Amino acid sequence: RALEAREAAQAPATTLDGRVIEVCANIGSAAEARLAAEQGADGIGLMRSEFLFLERHSAPDEDDQQREYQAAVEALGGKPVIIRTLDIGADKQLPYLRLPETPNPALGVRGVRLWQRHPELLDTQLRALLQVEPLEALRIMVPMVSDVGELRWVRRRLQGLAEELGLSAMPRLGAMIEVPTAALCAASLAEEADFLSIGTNDLTQYALAMDREDPGLAARADVLHPGVLRLIQATVNGAAGKCPVGVCGAAAGDPQALALLVTLGVDELSVEPARVPAVKAALRQLDARALADELPAWLMLEDGEAVRQRLTDWYERVQ
Ligand code: PEP
Ligand code: MG
Repeated sequence: RALEAREAAQAPATTLDGRVIEVCANIGSAAEARLAAEQGADGIGLMRSEFLFLERHSAPDEDDQQREYQAAVEALGGKPVIIRTLDIGADKQLPYLRLPETPNPALGVRGVRLWQRHPELLDTQLRALLQVEPLEALRIMVPMVSDVGELRWVRRRLQGLAEELGLSAMPRLGAMIEVPTAALCAASLAEEADFLSIGTNDLTQYALAMDREDPGLAARADVLHPGVLRLIQATVNGAAGKCPVGVCGAAAGDPQALALLVTLGVDELSVEPARVPAVKAALRQLDARALADELPAWLMLEDGEAVRQRLTDWYERVQ
């Protein structure tokens, strides 16, 4: 029995209607990458590199970073590993990077916006990433992108550094979709990006103008709000035929939400390592083609609560 469960966790997840969905893991360190591999993750969908930078007196140097990224890639044995460049500025601050006070940090200079002010920090991180082997397994992801120019700027820096290092191969470069305009303009981002990954935690916060840290709003800041779902749909449609789309926010591991994400056309889900087996099991029970028939009406419902109710009823009917 235990062996069967282990084999099921390691096998790819195919839905009842025959779609293979990659189930990857979100991690904060190479140690967690090993855990993810044990749980059967098909790769890493989000390594939050900021954990390497927190609780220290100075930024980790190129060698320290390279070792950690290399260890994460090795733990996955050739499967794809998406490492996100430092995402700092809103809820997370660094003691050695004195950022000016801003009245509304969630809307301030954070994520990729910070790099234009502190390019040396980004260059160190990109150099460390470029020295990971094999580069084919590595994907670099840029947080908080609002338009394609930001991604082009990072790619130019990456190319410049790769030349300095004498590299001929380049890792794939992708963008997070967390800003509503990025979701709506996904087609132009997909021209430049090798992949897109929807950060539903921030996308929900910005779409509904509800602080993700505010416990008083937690019940209403719902990824299943039809307005948020339409942004996810816009992302998938915009990227169609150009690049794959994943989800790495908490919604990817939510048993109700993940069914809708896959039905909307998402190719990859990235979840906490311990949730990988349960998410694969849920996908194997899902008939996304049947659910797709319901979707257009659900996207016109009035709130997230109504969508959840429809989903609950649907599951009762099909099971
Ligand atoms: C997100 O915003 O959904 C996400 C995955 O990034 P983080 O939670 O680190 O902001
Ligand atoms: Mg985010």
